[in-house]
Amino acid sequence: MWKKPCVYLVGAGPGDAGLLTCKGLELIKNCDVVVYDRLVSKEIMALIPEETEKINVGKNVGDHPVPQWRINEILLEEAQKGKRVVRLKGGDPFVFGRGGEELELLVENNIEFQVVPGITSSIAAPGYGGIPVTHRDYCSSLHIITGHGKNDSEAEINYDALVGLNGTLVFMMSVSTSATIAENLIRAGMDKNMPAALVENGTYGKQRKLITTLEKLGETVIRENVKSPAVILVGKVCSLGDKFDWFDKLPLKGRKILVTQPKSKASKLAEKIKSLGGEAVLYPTIRTKWIRPISPDVRNFDIVGFTSEAGVRSFMEYLREEGLDSRELHGLDIAVVGPATARALEEYGIKADFIPEKVFDGKTMGLEMVKEGFALKHQRVILLRAKEASRDIVTVLRDAAIEVEDYPVYETEYIMDNDVGEPEDFDIITFTSKSCVDGFVKTRGKTDFTGVKALCIGKQTAAAAEEYNFDIIVSEMATIDSMVEKLEEIL
Ligand code: SAH
Repeated sequence: MWKKPCVYLVGAGPGDAGLLTCKGLELIKNCDVVVYDRLVSKEIMALIPEETEKINVGKNVGDHPVPQWRINEILLEEAQKGKRVVRLKGGDPFVFGRGGEELELLVENNIEFQVVPGITSSIAAPGYGGIPVTHRDYCSSLHIITGHGKNDSEAEINYDALVGLNGTLVFMMSVSTSATIAENLIRAGMDKNMPAALVENGTYGKQRKLITTLEKLGETVIRENVKSPAVILVGKVCSLGDKFDWFDKLPLKGRKILVTQPKSKASKLAEKIKSLGGEAVLYPTIRTKWIRPISPDVRNFDIVGFTSEAGVRSFMEYLREEGLDSRELHGLDIAVVGPATARALEEYGIKADFIPEKVFDGKTMGLEMVKEGFALKHQRVILLRAKEASRDIVTVLRDAAIEVEDYPVYETEYIMDNDVGEPEDFDIITFTSKSCVDGFVKTRGKTDFTGVKALCIGKQTAAAAEEYNFDIIVSEMATIDSMVEKLEEIL
């Protein structure tokens, strides 16, 4: 699969990142450059490694898309530089995706290519709208039609033929021409009460589905201010859209939630929000940078403490870099702050000896270590943590006459080139660490967030958010699951 140079024409699916194919994911993670356009969701773009070159051909200076001939040239030029190129397109690349046109120049120049089909919005958007595009009791064929011709002309559609088909009609690129399409179908003899539907932003958390009739299609588009991208469906199957409505019924449907976790960790919270029907907008404002070298010899201590997954990863990867392995921790007791950190450690084949019963924060971890007799007087503890971590745990342990070395193994950098609109546009903002709060505030350029709801993972995070006047809600426990439960409860 990893040919070089080669152009992979990859379908990104309709929007929900879960609908990208395994093969597509593999390619975007391992190629040299991704050439993408406007229909590829942000969520999918976030799966591409930061260091991979990305070329946006959806918009140019002044908001004009890059012309097709130029896109074709870009693909050729990148391949000729010897790169593995992914041409990433919304839905399926061959379904009104100009995929065919983009291959012509490559063939002429003997550039190798492969095609990775995607899930087309013409079927996925109705699917998320509870509309089965073919149902044996309602139709015998399915037709995908464009409402737009080449070079922005009106499409030439044979309406008489369509009416005679007894099929489901799916119109793409047709929001602006929907009234004309409906009129023409009625004129050609279709029943004006034929069920019709619109699915806007299909498979996204912000998806909207409207069920109407052919006669009312045009006015529905105007009244509801339907915007592209949307698919328009005409046919008896549309009447099933209410009965099979599953997506709109999900508990977080219609809710817009900002996820401020770093990119490497954001997927779990975002995934859960999405699986409950919510719209999770990723806004990573920080990234973690490992600190090197890690000088202390852990074997001089009795207990090693990790208060985050990042701490575990930084330390374990450091061992690897140094040609060492987990045996460096042989004979030492290991304490972690919670199950996620314990799981990270397990990936390296190590079981934690101590996990606090209730997951809150470093301070609680310290208190429980002492209370449970896990850390004893005069023992030596090394904490491998974030440079900017709170010192509470150190104080707690030292108060119990335990020797503590607080050693930073990673630090936080802020990401400034980020834009997601205003915090007020969201139902709630989620903060999963104090540094996420700090990062968010830094990138917004203001310090007063009165009226903005914030769900915080623990007391320390909440305390950080309080300083900026957020409306604060704290999850029962310091876990992602507990945060998600809270979201369901309050939204
Ligand atoms: N190759 C794409 C289609 C590109 S043409 C595919 O297979 O899906 C662009 C049209 O696709 C839009 O005008 C709209 O009709 C449809 N479309 C794309 N993404 C959509 C989405 N998420 N929801 C609804 N319609 C979508």
